[in-house]
Amino acid sequence: MQDPRISPISIDIQRAAGIARFGWADGHETTYDAITLRWLCPCAYCRGEAGMPGWLDSNPTLTPAQVTLTDVALVGTYAIQCTWGDGHASGFHTFMLLREMCPCATCVADRERRHADHAAGTASPEAARHWHGGSGQ
Ligand SMILES: [Zn+2]
Ligand SMILES: [Zn+2]
Repeated sequence: MQDPRISPISIDIQRAAGIARFGWADGHETTYDAITLRWLCPCAYCRGEAGMPGWLDSNPTLTPAQVTLTDVALVGTYAIQCTWGDGHASGFHTFMLLREMCPCATCVADRERRHADHAAGTASPEAARHWHGGSGQ
């Protein structure tokens, strides 16, 4: 059975507003704006391959057309394929990527914590306390 964290139960694409919303089977919701989604494009052209940097690695200034979502198609049960205003459509954003890079405050904080743990080698008691602390009660 697929991980509920990366199983979308709803996908809501608002092309005019440039918003893509995903509701996941574990109850979490992820909302992307089109610009963020374009920067996440995982295709070989944008990301590079075989150790070569990709187009997005050159930190380009994206044109309005390049961040206009013109179409979104489901790819099997694991990804979406975005078509952009400049015709670019070679990137498959997997649900794993979309969940992993979720821009909500909770997930951003979670990634920073994991990054800090990783940098420290192992999770320190300090980090554990930070994680379990919390809600201000
Ligand atoms: Zn791309
Ligand atoms: Zn999130």
